[in-house]
Amino acid sequence: MKLLSDVFEIVKKRNPGENEFLQAVSEVFDSLEDVVARYPKYLKCGLFERLVEPDRQIIFRVPWTDETGGFHVNRGYRVQFNDAIGPYKGGLRFSPQVNLSVIKALGFEQTFKNSLSGLPIGGAKGGSDFDPKGKSDEEVMRFCQSFMNELFKYIGPDEDVPAGDQGVGAREIGYLFGQYKRLTGQYHGVLTGKGLSYSGSLARTEATGYGLVYFAREMLKGIDQSLYGKKTVVSGSGNVAIYAAVKAAALGAHVIAMSDSQGYIYDPNGIDIETVRDIKEKRRGRISEYVNVHPDAEYHTGSSGIWKLPCELAMPCATQNEVDADSAKALSDNGCILLSEGSNMSCTREAIKIIKASGMLYSPGKASNAGGVSVSALEMSQNSMRYFWDFETVDAKLEEIMKSIYKKAIDTAADFGHQGDIEFGANVSAFLKVADAMMAQGSV
Ligand code: NDP
Repeated sequence: MKLLSDVFEIVKKRNPGENEFLQAVSEVFDSLEDVVARYPKYLKCGLFERLVEPDRQIIFRVPWTDETGGFHVNRGYRVQFNDAIGPYKGGLRFSPQVNLSVIKALGFEQTFKNSLSGLPIGGAKGGSDFDPKGKSDEEVMRFCQSFMNELFKYIGPDEDVPAGDQGVGAREIGYLFGQYKRLTGQYHGVLTGKGLSYSGSLARTEATGYGLVYFAREMLKGIDQSLYGKKTVVSGSGNVAIYAAVKAAALGAHVIAMSDSQGYIYDPNGIDIETVRDIKEKRRGRISEYVNVHPDAEYHTGSSGIWKLPCELAMPCATQNEVDADSAKALSDNGCILLSEGSNMSCTREAIKIIKASGMLYSPGKASNAGGVSVSALEMSQNSMRYFWDFETVDAKLEEIMKSIYKKAIDTAADFGHQGDIEFGANVSAFLKVADAMMAQGSV
């Protein structure tokens, strides 16, 4: 990073210790050097300084009581990053790892992802350091209600439309939506990922995982290959991982491993996804229980060991920085040909360098996991129209969106002389759209 190094120094000074945020900015800035060289106008008008400063950062207290009447306080966040191309849109994450740096990193990424989707949505992210794990439904409900008691002041269908993310699934969205309605008396599409009986969209649950696999299929087509018969490792066993595994298997891939935050399962016969769904979706159990039903499978504690398994396709779908340099090296040494990110910022900077240098195909989450937010935007459209598309219609739109993101990334990379570099093409293509919208609107 040469031309943007002065700007990055300002970012470092202004956001001390925010490692995740600095990582997200430096990844994008690395790709934008060629843009600055070709179009110096963006540097001259201070666009990069504006791009890295969120429009608004809201931090609030979330008090709640547990089953025994015990009192707890968590911290809530909503970072409205950039609304140049549409109302703010991005998920809410409930996890003890949540802090301002993580939320800003995800909000920055979301701005680019939403630009790539081709839909009119700006970037935001939010959440809390609350851990829903081990809490009763009533405790989760009380927490969500308290969270919304503050958040409702800052969101609206034409202003900011949150969705789910890690730790925020259908149950949490239901409680959040109910409280928003109680507080405002308004029934409109202020959250996405809603249940089907109350204005949700078909295929939203499946969208991120399915979209990831549609994207990987396009990447493989680019080298005249297909998913068929490829040994595939999918990390995580949450929303993204489960539907990535479902779609990958449906398109002929051989999914051999999945994980959760405590360990991974390896099933040489192919993962039985219905068992995983039963454990994780229905019972909120541990992935280790899989071997009780499938004794031929193995369970190993520690989740990073999953990347040491020989495979051809790797789809990290758990959390940020889950693939480090050692894991990237093991994947490449074992003959992996593709790593497509389902989680946001799945790979460390070092891991990405190793993956690209080894000749493996690589796609960043902002491109390959954009299916979720895209179908969220389709949910917003259906809510505005008071209409409901069938599953096939939404799924077909999702497939087209993922193909178009791949094409944009590949074409932009080629235009700048970086043939085949999906990360570069995605960053540059997303940036140009947001930057031009900001300039046209005379942002100061
Ligand atoms: P969920 O909360 O549904 O699932 C997360 C899964 O990852 C759980 O199985 C969890 O295990 C596991 N996990 C957490 N940390 C680790 C770790 N260090 N190693 C291995 N597994 C781990 O989240 P989602 O599936 O919704 O999201 C996953 C990722 O995808 C996140 O990065 C999210 O930002 C991103 N994403 C999600 C979208 C969506 O539509 N849901 C859209 C775009 C991106 P455990 O059960 O033990 O907690």
